[in-house]
Amino acid sequence: MHQITVGNISIDVVRKDIKNLHLGVYPPKGRVRIATPLKIDDEAVRLFAISKLAWIKKQKLKFETQERQLERRFVSGESHYYRGRRYLLNVIYHKAAPRVEIRKNNIDLYVREGSASDQREKVLTEWYRGQLKEQIPALIDKWQKIIGVEVKDWGIKRMKTKWGTCTFAQRRIWLNLELVKKPQHCLEYIIMHEMVHLLERKHNDRFAVYMDKYLPKWHFYKDELNRSMLRHEIWDY
Ligand SMILES: [Zn+2]
Repeated sequence: MHQITVGNISIDVVRKDIKNLHLGVYPPKGRVRIATPLKIDDEAVRLFAISKLAWIKKQKLKFETQERQLERRFVSGESHYYRGRRYLLNVIYHKAAPRVEIRKNNIDLYVREGSASDQREKVLTEWYRGQLKEQIPALIDKWQKIIGVEVKDWGIKRMKTKWGTCTFAQRRIWLNLELVKKPQHCLEYIIMHEMVHLLERKHNDRFAVYMDKYLPKWHFYKDELNRSMLRHEIWDY
């Protein structure tokens, strides 16, 4: 791979045994990449990129805007999500231990005056973790009975690219903390998906047969989760 510069945009060029040029702009920062057949030289690639420059700029702008929107400062008026619903954050100063309360359309975040944004984030994150922790056992219990598998252990993690994982040998499942922000049926879908991995480790036909049998609408939940990703990251599980 090497880079060319068109306008002031640097483009990664990858030569491969392919038939056509392929242009892509990728999150999170709007990296531009062109895959090209072996026989096409850089000058031709440059001309191709120039012809697509308006489109490239538009895509880059889209990702940059999304990045900005994702930066949270944990101040009053920001949107934050819980169980698939949007709430407005309300930061309230008080002189006691921090706490979080849901009130109508607000998430009330009680902190000490002068707390920094990363401290406010930590309080909210720990609250999220506690909420998710409370919701998981009943769902695992329900699906253990339906699928007939036993989950020995489970945990919550922050993961960049996965909603959940399953460690087959230990019969342990890991769930992404972000699921606390999604509707309950999405959380349930990921839990049962990971539990089905205790029957079949791979995403093969056998796995799909189990999914269809136990949760016929699983495709909808999967699409819903993937659609909700602002960053357009590829989320697999
Ligand atoms: Zn899976």
